[in-house]
Amino acid sequence: MGRIVLNHVEKRFGKERAYAVKDFHLEIEDGEFIVMVGPSGCGKSTTLRMIAGLEDITSGELYIGDKLVNHLPPKDRDIAMVFQNYALYPNMSVYENIAFGLRLRKMAKHEIDQSVKSTSRVLEIEQFLERKPRQLSGGQRQRVALGRAIVRNPQVFLMDEPLSNLDAKLRVQMRTEIIKLHKELGVTMVYVTHDQVEAMTMGHRIVVMKDGVIQQVDTPKMIYNNPRNMFVAGFIGTPPINFIEGKVLESGGGELEFHTKRYSVKVPPRHADILRKKHKAGRDVVLGIRSENIHVDPAMAEGRPKWQIAGIQKLSELMGADMYLYLDIGGPNLLIARARADHEFIENEKLTLTLDMEKALFFDKDTTDNLA
Ligand code: ATP
Repeated sequence: MGRIVLNHVEKRFGKERAYAVKDFHLEIEDGEFIVMVGPSGCGKSTTLRMIAGLEDITSGELYIGDKLVNHLPPKDRDIAMVFQNYALYPNMSVYENIAFGLRLRKMAKHEIDQSVKSTSRVLEIEQFLERKPRQLSGGQRQRVALGRAIVRNPQVFLMDEPLSNLDAKLRVQMRTEIIKLHKELGVTMVYVTHDQVEAMTMGHRIVVMKDGVIQQVDTPKMIYNNPRNMFVAGFIGTPPINFIEGKVLESGGGELEFHTKRYSVKVPPRHADILRKKHKAGRDVVLGIRSENIHVDPAMAEGRPKWQIAGIQKLSELMGADMYLYLDIGGPNLLIARARADHEFIENEKLTLTLDMEKALFFDKDTTDNLA
């Protein structure tokens, strides 16, 4: 029903222009919640608009259900789309806004009434049905926009940054509501956002895009723990992952070591086997380590392969439950560690940092690929 297949789909705006979307290949399961994420201009909206039928496909095939829909007009695709700017009719009441699509379909009046009422119950907007959009808050308007989509009972929902006009608190609340809605309706959802937190919390699978090209398609957990390249590793996660440049070299004692200009550390056996297979010793690599795997309190990394280095405290950001510490370790960038909120920050004080090497990632400096 709501299965979508994009078979090597491409989009180019005009012959001279570069591809906005390149060789996009993805099979979306019926009922799946897919989130497309990436920086501005990476081609996520264009991809969504091609699925919707709002943009022609330059090459490749698009299937919805079992049907090839490349040339099918949007209204025949059995999809509903929700945009960032709600696109409500200002002169119509909430009721009329929700009912509009059904009227166009010439549905009987009492059926329309039933559908509008049950939809507004699901979205808890029953008390606003007589109001005009301008008499609603941003969050309420967004609910009406969702209502207009739901009421048509489509097999596929497409959403393009639907929450980006809302304030931070409301965004979090609506995020949960959309997840709930997806569970209740059981439909396929394709959701576009540039917000990696939204992607991580909402999607069954995340599609990370850059420059029109898919970088990785995976579950949030896999994307976070096993990013395919440095771009994905850096794009997903707050604060951003730390990168430390160095080389992997064989030590005299038959062990593999990671060397920077100032430090060297033993590579844990799990990584060493893979690095030996994939990587010629002496080549440049980049070690990636997330802030939660850098411990200011050495006791935290007890019993694990670890790397202890000195870091000078430069800046701190209190985040509520924890604190981001920015530390100078002698490299070109400050290292970000996550400490407890009660950590005493003293500017320029030296700390011993413990890096949990089991959690470190290694990337090829030239290709930026994850070497695992
Ligand atoms: P954003 O988050 O800023 O909306 P996006 O990832 O959704 O970005 P797209 O809107 O899909 O990116 O744009 C992808 C590329 O295609 C961009 O380089 C953009 O400039 C280009 N593009 C989009 N629409 C058109 C158009 N109608 N004509 C020409 N180029 C376009």
